Amino acid sequence: MTGPQLRLEGVSAGYGRTTVLRDIDLEIPAASVVALLGSNGAGKTTLLRVASGLMRPSVGHVLVDDQDVTHEAPSERRRHGVCLIPEGRGIFRSLTVRENLLLQIPPWEKDTSLDPALEMFPALRTRLGDLAGRLSGGQQQMVALSRAFFGSPSLVLLDEVSMGLAPIVVDTIFEALHVLAARGTALLIVEQYVSRALAVADHVYLIGHGSIIFQGSSASLDQAAVMRHYLSHD
Ligand code: ATP
Repeated sequence: MTGPQLRLEGVSAGYGRTTVLRDIDLEIPAASVVALLGSNGAGKTTLLRVASGLMRPSVGHVLVDDQDVTHEAPSERRRHGVCLIPEGRGIFRSLTVRENLLLQIPPWEKDTSLDPALEMFPALRTRLGDLAGRLSGGQQQMVALSRAFFGSPSLVLLDEVSMGLAPIVVDTIFEALHVLAARGTALLIVEQYVSRALAVADHVYLIGHGSIIFQGSSASLDQAAVMRHYLSHD
């Protein structure tokens, strides 16, 4: 592997006539953890949509492993190792947990064992026959995150995976992120718990009004400045 796992080059994107992302350059080196921070509406979810193939940029390119995947659909990007855990979980509430997990296994994967997810989230073992919609919010998020444990993705994009969860469940979710990072899976994390995100991240991008306004190592980030930025919605 030569270049970074994922690169956005000069990406602009939006909805209809509204431009949300403006000339974004962003790199996720292989096996690294990058946090993407910014206030509400700054464009974080839109950036993950562009990175995962759910949205096409109006300008610019998306590269995975140095290959231009700008025009590839999410399923094709998954083949390139890119796995999105979307905001709001993206699970099927009226299907059982077992059915949800089976659907997360990529079609080319011969091994259809659920063990990779169940070893990470043993609480799901006794819930396999239950409808996903009947699980607690934390267990639903475990089902959603299970996707990252099937098919050995090289990059996982995580959109607010701890949103609305009790602190003890947030611990379990972050443990899973640490496990993925320790395996060498690159992560792009959008997270409201800034200090938790920085604890696992090597590198940070700060986005404001659709543009990157800071990037650097997590250690170099002035957390107080970030908090001021959040509060002022600059
Ligand atoms: P949040 O933390 O609130 O999720 P965010 O940083 O993820 O915010 P986005 O969800 O990317 O921000 O939204 C960026 C801008 O794009 C916002 O102004 C939002 O209103 C707008 N937007 C998001 N989704 C759509 C859509 N489907 N159609 C039109 N505008 C949208």
